[in-house]
Amino acid sequence: MSLLPAVPATRTLGEGGPAISPIAWGMWRLADDGRSAAEAAKLVHAALDAGITLLDTADIYGFDGKAGFGKAEELLGQVLAAEPGLREAMVLATKGGILPPLPYDQSPEYLAEAIDASLRRLRVERVDLWQIHRPDILAHPHETARALDRAIAQGKVGALGVSNFTIAQTAALNGFLDHKLVATQPEISTLRIDAIENGELDQAMALGLVPLAWSPLGGGRLANPETPRDKAVAAALDTVATAHDVSRTVTAYSWLMAHPAGIVPIVGSQQAARIAEAAQALTVRWTRQDWYAVLVAARGVPLP
Ligand code: NAP
Repeated sequence: MSLLPAVPATRTLGEGGPAISPIAWGMWRLADDGRSAAEAAKLVHAALDAGITLLDTADIYGFDGKAGFGKAEELLGQVLAAEPGLREAMVLATKGGILPPLPYDQSPEYLAEAIDASLRRLRVERVDLWQIHRPDILAHPHETARALDRAIAQGKVGALGVSNFTIAQTAALNGFLDHKLVATQPEISTLRIDAIENGELDQAMALGLVPLAWSPLGGGRLANPETPRDKAVAAALDTVATAHDVSRTVTAYSWLMAHPAGIVPIVGSQQAARIAEAAQALTVRWTRQDWYAVLVAARGVPLP
């Protein structure tokens, strides 16, 4: 049976942009459990040693509902200050635009402040990718675009992305930008296939956006599936995992990566061994039949 194409060893973040690994590592949970800078450094090294060069954080990571805004960026900033050579080894992505306790703010003033604050906490002069974390309904995309183009012109940001935007919101912002979007970050996993079916990934392909998949294991649910539907997805993945002698999670990442949009799963584990293991996803090749079997399990109903 013929196999779907192999995943390339690198992708490009926008035309003429930096090369990125086809798997990313995310730091949403980095500041949890009182992790020290030395412990955080070990995880950064685990990712880089595994060939994972795209590192994703956000200004709100570490916020627990009351305090902790900026904590994950600060921790990475400490790691980078202790080992400045690491900065060049990674493609650094962060996000902003969620302002607790208010929901979202993309006014030009707030965006400029948020970008500066992220750079200060990360102790860098520039991030390679800056993403709007969630859409602010009250911001006109023209105003937002001007603020973001300015950040690029100032050299503070290498490229722009969005997260959790609808197709229309992405198109509207992109239309106003001089420096077009290079990435979009929806939730995508074998347990959350909306972006696969609702046109978001088709838009990503049409606009040349790299789709970064957040919670690629459904936030860990895939490791311990509870509902009949989640168990069916896990079983469909396990068939392929057994044949390739890899874990279910590795198969779950590779299923995303086999999509023609070039989905980049953002590995969420904060365990060095699991981060290293994720790189095995590059070795798994899917047949069309096996890939669709997982999709059908995720849909919960047969294909029409
Ligand atoms: P995930 O990979 O779906 O879930 C990771 C969680 O699953 C961790 O707590 C991990 O625990 C657990 N887990 C259990 N068994 C595992 C196994 N066998 N292998 C790996 N992990 C296992 O990803 P996520 O953390 O929810 O999200 C990943 C990244 O996406 C975040 O770091 C962030 O960069 C991004 N994100 C973005 C948004 C957004 O709105 N843009 C929202 C959420 C997340 P251990 O740490 O103990 O391994």
